[in-house]
Amino acid sequence: MNLDAPLASIKGVGPKTAKMFSDAGLVSVLDLVTFLPRKYEDFSEVTAMRDIRPGKRTVKARCEKVETKRVRRGLQITTATLVDETGKISAVWFNQPYRDKQLRSDGEFYFSGEYEFSYNRYQLTNPSAEKVSEVPVSTDRIVPIYRAIKGLKSQVVRKTLIELRPVITMMAETLPDDIVKKEKLMPYADALLALHFPNNMDEVEQARDRLAFEELFHLLLAATLNKKANMELSGWYIKFDKEIVKSFVDQLPFKLTDSQRKAAWDIIQDFERATPMNRLLQGDVGSGKTVVAGLAARQAASAGFQTAIMAPTEILASQHAKTLSSMLEPLGVGVGLLTGNVKGVARKVLYEKIADGSVNVVVGTHALIQDKVKFHRLGFVVIDEQHRFGVAQRQALLQKSDNMPHLLSMTATPIPRSLALTVYGELDVSIINERPKGRKPILTKTWSPVDREGLYDRIEEQIVMGRQVYVVCTLIDDNPMLEQKSVQAEYKKLRVGPFKHRQIGLLHGKMSSAEKDEVMARFSDGKIDILVSTTVVEVGVDVPNATVILIENADRFGLAQLHQLRGRVGRSDLQSYCYLMMSDTTPPTRRLKEIEKSNDGFYLAEVDLKLRGPGEIYGRVQHGQLNLQVATLGDARLIARAQKQAREFVESKRDLLQYIGLAEQVEKYQRLTKLN
Ligand code: ADP
Ligand code: MG
Repeated sequence: MNLDAPLASIKGVGPKTAKMFSDAGLVSVLDLVTFLPRKYEDFSEVTAMRDIRPGKRTVKARCEKVETKRVRRGLQITTATLVDETGKISAVWFNQPYRDKQLRSDGEFYFSGEYEFSYNRYQLTNPSAEKVSEVPVSTDRIVPIYRAIKGLKSQVVRKTLIELRPVITMMAETLPDDIVKKEKLMPYADALLALHFPNNMDEVEQARDRLAFEELFHLLLAATLNKKANMELSGWYIKFDKEIVKSFVDQLPFKLTDSQRKAAWDIIQDFERATPMNRLLQGDVGSGKTVVAGLAARQAASAGFQTAIMAPTEILASQHAKTLSSMLEPLGVGVGLLTGNVKGVARKVLYEKIADGSVNVVVGTHALIQDKVKFHRLGFVVIDEQHRFGVAQRQALLQKSDNMPHLLSMTATPIPRSLALTVYGELDVSIINERPKGRKPILTKTWSPVDREGLYDRIEEQIVMGRQVYVVCTLIDDNPMLEQKSVQAEYKKLRVGPFKHRQIGLLHGKMSSAEKDEVMARFSDGKIDILVSTTVVEVGVDVPNATVILIENADRFGLAQLHQLRGRVGRSDLQSYCYLMMSDTTPPTRRLKEIEKSNDGFYLAEVDLKLRGPGEIYGRVQHGQLNLQVATLGDARLIARAQKQAREFVESKRDLLQYIGLAEQVEKYQRLTKLN
């Protein structure tokens, strides 16, 4: 049997099953044998109802009295009575309406879940439910559960894999043999066998480690090779000019913090090197990254190079253009703004100025990467909120230069140190870990809708003091139309209700860029007291006089996003407040409690990592382009091992092509961050 053979050619896989597989993205034998279980159920310890105690339990039972109720919007509860020969218990499922049908079918199930005291009685909460007839009880009692993509049943996957067992046994090693030996890893075939047909959980752990090691090895090998390739490029030489930098710093209305100074110095030094810079500037929201980029752009301009600064939204691009012109124009450095909003003659003139070099610093959205934009001498590229851009967009901007420009990526998404190596393997990193002097921690508080009036009183107090307020509404569902509706509704409500005597503005993504700019400008100038907005204000927006942000339905946001949004306030030495309004009266989650307690983005990132797992965070950072199946990116020890092997592999100058699939795997990751 060939690994490329279609699944349809396997015994027992008829056209219907083959269709189910292919709908789930599984076409070849290889696809299926590398489709790994999502989790395992241990059916070896079945508890009789009579003996059940609180804790994680598995019972074998029939269902009685299945019922699904819609308790309120957004909450459906399915309940059932589970019965075996020794007694009965209750079970409950939240928001799993599909359970209803499953539980009404005849026969016995294995239920696994937490037996606990909730809603005034002991019950099994959200247990998994597997038909006994579908579980291969006779042999392995630890049963792999596969992701049910488009209704694909675990049982079907298991059955087909049994047919493929001999093929798996014969699969060739994918890692270099010496590495398998040195690191005492499970051979590839053994690892797949252990994952699909586990004898015990220890074996599963070892198999996962082996595959995780391999993924990390690929990732770090790609990073090491990228770094090496970047070292071989020649960059623009931008000479450090002390007087130029000093004159820039002297005219700032504030003193740079030590970490801003350190980050700027890192960049200036990179400018003088023979190889192009590839640096990440990581600094928590409000830490002052823009001015660091401005300083470097000033240095580049004085050496005769242009700078391109790309930001993810029009609001942000125009804000940067404003800030940077005020810092740079007085020094004779021309700043231009290019967004979709610049049209007609103005756009043509701007193109010409960029092409003849009379504009030194070009700030813009992804409009910058259009073909028509030709630079005179692009030496320095800054990507703000870099995680918002795809690889292709970054590359396209870099290609606007004849020679590889220096690249500074900026991000306010702090990621835990343990992830930095894997996520940003080949980048040099500068960190701004302090906020400008005099900033007070933002006071953050969760709020229940029943106390809304009291909250509005507090907000009114701030407005009376001359401060401004953001009210952020989230999207209900993943539907931008509904999002727009919800912010419009909120806007109307506030205008006729508690704040009818105040100036209220509205901002959402569906507005034209001219409208958005206008509203933002009026808010910046203090002409709007309350800005009701969608999450378009999430990143970057800087209005120092705004001291209150009220986030509606805060429980629907992730931790990182809440932290970002909160960063819209606390941008001056005024005391600022972040109010997290709950959707209903249920108590705040752990996530919300953490953000109440801490203003530290790095700490919150660590918490997020613990609560949600690395896949989620990694996905966000890299736009989901890395599809890691097993690797735990938080596993520092495994990362260190993989890195050591990757480094040695590159040093030994071995040929990637010598190993099955290695070159392909590595290339997949290389495309993500390579400079050229
Ligand atoms: P971010 O790192 O989130 O991009 P910004 O660059 O937008 O932050 O800066 C936030 C605010 O802090 C801006 O209003 C900026 O002018 C101000 N700022 C930056 N550096 C300092 C500093 N050293 N002292 C005081 N204010 C500063
Ligand atoms: Mg910023």
